Order: sequence, then C-alpha cells, then structure tokens
Amino acid sequence: MKDVYFMERDPYAPIRHCYGISKILYEGKSKYQEIQVVESHYFGKMLILDGVVQFTEKNEFFYHEMLTHPVMFAHKNPQNVLIIGGGDGGILREVLKHKTVKKAVLVDIDKDVVEVSKKFFPTVACSMDDPRAIILNEDGFKYIQDYKNEFDVIIVDSTDPVGFAHVLTTEEFFKYVFEALKEDGIYVGQSESLHYHLDIVVRFQKALKKNFPIVDLYTTVIPVYAGYWWSFSVGSKVYNPREISRDVDVETRFYSDEIHKNAFLPPNFYQKVLNGTFKY
Ligand code: SAM
Repeated sequence: MKDVYFMERDPYAPIRHCYGISKILYEGKSKYQEIQVVESHYFGKMLILDGVVQFTEKNEFFYHEMLTHPVMFAHKNPQNVLIIGGGDGGILREVLKHKTVKKAVLVDIDKDVVEVSKKFFPTVACSMDDPRAIILNEDGFKYIQDYKNEFDVIIVDSTDPVGFAHVLTTEEFFKYVFEALKEDGIYVGQSESLHYHLDIVVRFQKALKKNFPIVDLYTTVIPVYAGYWWSFSVGSKVYNPREISRDVDVETRFYSDEIHKNAFLPPNFYQKVLNGTFKY
C-alpha cells in the first residue's frame, strides 16, 4: 500500500501532525463528533475524534496513568470517584486499580465512543464491567450539578475545550466541581499544551483559582498531543497534590512516586506561567 498519512488538524494552532497509516478500521459520526479508528505503522491503533488523536495503543498508558494517579495518591482514601469524559475507559481502568475505590462513575456524553472503544481497544476499555463501575452517557456539565459533597476525586478527561467540551473548563463548571467534591476532595483535568495552548492553560488555571484554595499544574510528554508538553491542572480543597499521602501500590508502566514528585512545574516557573511573564 503506498504511503498514506492521517493528518491531524490542531483545533487552535495552524499546525498539522501526520501519521503513517495502513488502514482505516472504523469511521462514523455520532450525535456529537466524528469517530475514526485507524491502524498506524508506528503507534498501532489510534482513536480519533473530530480529526484529533485521542490516544494510541502504543503510548496511551503515559496519559491515562498521569491524569489519574497523582491526585489518587495525593488523596488519603479515595473511595468515590467521578470521571467526566474518558469514554474510552483508560482513566476508569487506572482508577479501579486503587483498592480504596468503592465506586467509579464514568459520564461521557457520547455512547458511541464507549462502544467503539470496547470493540477496538479492549486493553483500554477493559474495566467497564467492573462491579464498582457505573457508565453513564450524559453531559458531564449537567450531571455534576445534581451532586453535593459526593465525590473524593473528580477527573475530567475531555476532548479539547471546544464545542460541547468547552463548558468543562469554565469558572461555573469548577464551582459545581467544588460543590460536588467532599470536604477533602481533589479535581484534575487535562488542560492542553504548554507549548501551543499556553493561553488556554492560563485561563484554565485562573478559573480554578476562583474556586479552589489549592491549584497546581503538572506535565508529562505525550508524543501524539500537540507540542508534546501536555499539562494537567489540579484543584484541591485540602491535600497538596505534590505530596503522596499513601504507598504507591498499583501496577503502572510509567507513573511512580519519583515521576509524581518531578512532574509538577518548579514553583518559580509556575508563577511565571501564571502571571504571564513566561511568553514566547
Ligand atoms: N484523552 C483524550 C484527550 O486528552 O484528548 C480524551 C479522551 S476521551 C475519548 C474524551 C471524551 O470527552 C470524548 O469521548 C467526549 O465524548 C467526552 N466529552 C466531551 N465533552 C463532554 C461533556 N460535556 N460531557 C461528557 N463527556 C464529554
């Protein structure tokens, strides 16, 4: 087959990323977004939503471990967890590795993403039948407004904050998140690229700071996300997310206590990012 490339369009910056592919395994349009699954030469199968790579078979664990475990281990006893987005099941898989977890509610607006992930990514969507898991297909922005003082940890694994995902990065949403968390609850959300989306990261952080006493930022390198330097924003009521409050007792391929401690931005640089003196 002659060289065929999938070209990803960044939703914000005039940048394209190309991936050599051997075949298209699935193409469909749900009520919310275009869904594609392709077989790539280097990364294995890739899930693509509205033309943007969500994850790949080869390296999904970097992202799913790093979005999940820092806040799960910063919390002393996370039992009741809410995941908004994450319909592929990767975050759910990581959350359910924690023996403390009694219930994990996954709320993804698009049921087609859940079904496609179960079919093409069984190693990612492998925990959907866990008795502790509850899978709902609703708008997370609406769902969360019905809960007060309910969750220990809330993780938002959404698509880029455009369209129906934008609401998940607003001050109003973070107010609902704060109210839905228990008194020692902690939130984390993927907050885009420090290279290409710095303005979004800063907006995200400022919206969190309006609602949480403790806000922080950590990063990891994701080879299929724009600019590779991917950020995660934390809002916490009590716990310092930089500290690990119990033994790291889950099986992971990348995350560890050392990775946790070194993932957060150095305090001085973090301040420069927030106050806008870091620009280029
Ligand atoms: N790991 C990917 C990333 O960082 O780009 C995201 C993976 S996951 C597939 C993203 C999910 O967010 C999608 O399945 C989408 O349906 C869901 N989503 C977006 N906005 C949502 C909302 N308002 N409520 C619930 N789910 C939402």
